[in-house]
Amino acid sequence: MNATIMLLPGDGIGPEVVAEARRVLDATAARFGHTFDYRQGLIGGCAIDASGAALPPETLELCLSSDAVLLGAVGGPQWSDPRAAVRPEQGLLQLRAAMGVYANLRPVRVLDALADASPLRPERVRGVDMLIVRELTGGLYFGRPQGRETTDGRRSAVDTLRYGEDEIRRVVRMAFELARGRRKKVTSVDKANVLASSRLWREVTHEVAADYPDVVCEDVLVDACAMYLINRPADFDVIVTENMFGDILSDEASMIAGSLGMLPSASLGEEAHAKAQRIEGAKEEKHAASSLPLRPGPFAPLREISSRPGLYEPIHGSAPDIAGRGIANPLATILSAAMLLRWSLGLTAEADAIEAAVGRVLDAGGRTADIARLGEAPIGTAEMGERVVASVSSVAATLAA
Ligand code: NAD
Repeated sequence: MNATIMLLPGDGIGPEVVAEARRVLDATAARFGHTFDYRQGLIGGCAIDASGAALPPETLELCLSSDAVLLGAVGGPQWSDPRAAVRPEQGLLQLRAAMGVYANLRPVRVLDALADASPLRPERVRGVDMLIVRELTGGLYFGRPQGRETTDGRRSAVDTLRYGEDEIRRVVRMAFELARGRRKKVTSVDKANVLASSRLWREVTHEVAADYPDVVCEDVLVDACAMYLINRPADFDVIVTENMFGDILSDEASMIAGSLGMLPSASLGEEAHAKAQRIEGAKEEKHAASSLPLRPGPFAPLREISSRPGLYEPIHGSAPDIAGRGIANPLATILSAAMLLRWSLGLTAEADAIEAAVGRVLDAGGRTADIARLGEAPIGTAEMGERVVASVSSVAATLAA
């Protein structure tokens, strides 16, 4: 296959982790006989420095004409003045909106090898395998009016939380489709006891749930959900929620897995098809080469719902505190690249190979600083990338045998 992949390294550790993901993509392409053409563009703080815009028009144009987009992270203290007219994060929001990627899928799975990397007790996190589906192009981050003003010398600011029923329905429906290929449970998170937008969210969710009698649906208030994620995380299967709640809960959930540096994400824009889920659901766990549980789940559903182009990115930010030191964990970005292959390019075996390779490296004790235990010698970003590259080759050889 020939495919065009747009790389947006961004700021901070973004360039460091995207470089490793690209090496892994190259190794995978070489092993499986594909050609990936890369394009690269500026977004975020580096784009503001170069052109004054957080998402230059040429970057957007290249993204929209590529098969898929892999992004590092944006932002940093040098661009965080609250009075700045342009902010790096605006570039990301504009990109998501322009690509129409309304659903952000964030798998959180605790690998056995990393059960003790979580700040929670291993027995509490073992077996956790959830998928957070976050609405991505609506709600508080996009609602208008938004801004600040000064009246009689007093400052005030406003944000608007607005959802239309169609925006809610399409993302909730995607969550139910995904749940059908998993453990058939959807937890819808809202704040319906206080917010009108949440009451609409709950109403529409129940309407969608009526079409999925085989899937259990529960409503949980966002404050309670924050608590349950810590005291009974293994109970969750698919969580669906609005933009800001999803932003916060998925960062919280990342700690269950041990580090923000482990969690990939995919942002998709098309309606889900139950058929695709059933195809994946019928797949056997035939990849014994890996310790990663490759049954249908967060890393392995729904290639047919993929949007073209989809947007793939680690859930972490630009980590300015460790940028430039070569110690960032590149696995979230590498696993995002695997999701890209599966969902935007339909390269299932190749995605499996990358995920299995990551599992093998972790099983063999490879740990960057964020997931290393006390006394374990951590490896750097490039070394972790190198090990995954080497492992992709041996996994591919095993799969071919
Ligand atoms: P962050 O995710 O950048 O970092 C939080 C903590 O996690 C830091 O201690 C960091 O060192 C660590 N960390 C994150 N990724 C890691 C990795 N791959 N390996 C090892 N450790 C890792 O969040 P923050 O510090 O709140 O934000 C920093 C900047 O990133 C801000 O400007 C923020 O706006 C931006 N941000 C961007 C995105 C994005 O691009 N999608 C997301 C979140 C935050």
